[in-house]
Amino acid sequence: MPDILDPQLKRDLSERIRYYNELGIYDFYRRGPGLANIGETEDPALATTSEIQTEQREEMTPRSKAVAVPVPEDDLLEVTNPKAETGVTDAVQALRLIREGLGDCTRCRLSRQGRKQIVFGVGNPKAELMFIGEAPGADEDQQGEPFVGRAGQLLNNMIKAMGLRREDVYIANIIKCRPPGNRTPERDECETCSPFLMRQIAAIKPKAIVALGAVAAKTLLAINAPMSEFRGRWFDFRGTKLAVTYHPAFLLRDPRQKKETWKDLQMVMKKLGMAIPAKGVE
Ligand code: URA
Repeated sequence: MPDILDPQLKRDLSERIRYYNELGIYDFYRRGPGLANIGETEDPALATTSEIQTEQREEMTPRSKAVAVPVPEDDLLEVTNPKAETGVTDAVQALRLIREGLGDCTRCRLSRQGRKQIVFGVGNPKAELMFIGEAPGADEDQQGEPFVGRAGQLLNNMIKAMGLRREDVYIANIIKCRPPGNRTPERDECETCSPFLMRQIAAIKPKAIVALGAVAAKTLLAINAPMSEFRGRWFDFRGTKLAVTYHPAFLLRDPRQKKETWKDLQMVMKKLGMAIPAKGVE
């Protein structure tokens, strides 16, 4: 086994691992070295998943910690799984097709761990501004809509402070099902679910995205950094401007940071050419 994998082989293996993940298989082990000696073919696509996994694990944060998942390459997914909305220019219809494709999703363990329903996303399909949080909580799971609990009330205040209404923007999460006990989403859950979010973003084509909190920022940008390094600047997310601010749930715990969030939102308003109201986030 070479130390550095050929990029094509690496992509093929990543794809195969994703396929197994879709089947609910997450753990791989290395075939014993003796097998090749007794006449087994050394098919790298069959024998090297553990190396890829090891390499990926070394590059990324462990599953149990906050995630930093490079979102899958669209072109790679396109080959094996053409998107239903390809060529559809109407955002409403494209979102409908994405939702249909998601179905009553059982692609990851969250479907078997007490989620009541899928929380797809809500808002204006043609929104210029998109907010992306982490995962649905109990209220969202109950109502099937993102950010409807206490954190949602605060997000509404943030949107209102910008001179917008909730219906003007689009709101979604990195993952669409509530993790048990509201734990942080695990790496493979984000990997499995986030392609649907990527497709929603591509359909909506917002001018700007605001990632709410570190998990959303780390997952979208595949950068493992503290909030201090994410805030106050623009990132490029597949051609769309992306800013990061504190998660509303964090602001509920530390309301003094609302003025910092207001700075972030002002930066966004400026980029979108919006008038900046004098009053901040309440
Ligand atoms: N927190 C999130 O990240 N998303 C929600 O939808 C609700 C709370």
